[in-house]
Amino acid sequence: MGPSDATTDIRAAVRTLCARFPGPYWRRLDAERAYPEAFVSALTEAGFLAALIPESYGGSGLGVTEAAAILEEIHRAGCNGAACHAQMYTMGTLLRHGSDAQKAAYLPDIAAGRLRLQAFAVTEPESGTDTAAIRTSAVRDADEYVISGQKIWTSRAQHSDLMVLLARTAPSDSAERPHDGLSVFLVDIRGAEKRGLTIRPVRTMINHAATEVFFDEFRIPAEALIGDAGLGFRCILDGMNAERILIAAECIGDARWFIEKASAYARDRVVFDRPIGRNQGVQFPIARAYAATEAAALMVERAAARFDDGAPCGSEANMAKLLAADASWQAGDTCLQTFGGFGFAEEFDVERKFRETRLYQVAPVSTNLILAYLGEHVLDLPRSY
Ligand SMILES: Cc1cc2nc3c(=O)[nH]c(=O)nc-3n(C[C@H](O)[C@H](O)[C@H](O)COP(=O)(O)OP(=O)(O)OC[C@H]3O[C@@H](n4cnc5c(N)ncnc54)[C@H](O)[C@@H]3O)c2cc1C
Repeated sequence: MGPSDATTDIRAAVRTLCARFPGPYWRRLDAERAYPEAFVSALTEAGFLAALIPESYGGSGLGVTEAAAILEEIHRAGCNGAACHAQMYTMGTLLRHGSDAQKAAYLPDIAAGRLRLQAFAVTEPESGTDTAAIRTSAVRDADEYVISGQKIWTSRAQHSDLMVLLARTAPSDSAERPHDGLSVFLVDIRGAEKRGLTIRPVRTMINHAATEVFFDEFRIPAEALIGDAGLGFRCILDGMNAERILIAAECIGDARWFIEKASAYARDRVVFDRPIGRNQGVQFPIARAYAATEAAALMVERAAARFDDGAPCGSEANMAKLLAADASWQAGDTCLQTFGGFGFAEEFDVERKFRETRLYQVAPVSTNLILAYLGEHVLDLPRSY
């Protein structure tokens, strides 16, 4: 069976699962800002969230290509993978840089659905996009590290057992390069609120389980370190490339959902005795969004294939994220316009998806920073920041 056949089967299985979680389910959670527990449990039981875990640890041993297909289908069905996608993109860091002991300790339980690895704590209030400027420190004390500092926007921390954490183990002024001295840890946060960890929800315009996390001399075992101390940024780069590709796939799913909704509505809605879709002013923006989406999807495929081959994929992962996020935003805007006033009514789900897909212009990396990456690293232009 070729890879596209494998993806076809996975896509069909995801679609069947998602049909159990229609619009009203997401609308109720959105209104309550509640976590989609039943949806995440169903994905876990079906094994989709263990897609990237090797078979020897109880997972499916699939690649980012298949993980991208899973997330795209979730979004194409009108659902939202943001409640659980971190389990896939943090896997790159753990699989490529984690020790055998770490993998043996956690992966079988993650694969079996007994443990959730859903939190990825990088961003801090003061540092913003400048990851090298993070201040959360991890100080070695005998066989432990003592963590002090604050993270912001740590999604799903209240719904996760494990957290991938980026912290400073050496001050930035002693570092040769800005990202030296950063280390990455796989932290068990079960019961940690009694040991110096505080998690507070941050209410946002979307239902995203966002939180801020405070570390008050929070002690973790030294064996929580992933890879070498001080070289953590390299370890999370694999995770970040996977994250960009997988988020791009979600954007493609959103874009296809918007285009299908807009097309169906434009065929059916009759104004001035004709379907609105007969007007080129309505039809062409949908066609343009479709073309942009299909082009972006090719870049997502290419980036995922390079990641799975172990080839450098920084520029493809960034371009996939840029193009797919732009395509989903274009499709969302077009869909809202096509629906006219009804686009604003909650019952059509368009306004919810519109709000949800807007995030991807900003997170996990903003459009400007991708353009700066392409300018500097691909086009050899002077560094702009
Ligand atoms: C809902 C949500 C969930 C998130 N989940 C997580 C998570 O799980 N884990 C995590 O670690 N982070 C998470 N983030 C954080 C996200 O990655 C950051 O918000 C994003 O990287 C932008 O950083 P910032 O918000 O600090 O913006 P800033 O860095 O303050 O930037 C603000 C604006 O200025 C622009 N800008 C900044 N510098 C430049 C420059 N040199 N050139 C041009 N433009 C520039 C940016 O593009 C942006 O538009 C999440 C954010 C949100 C909103």
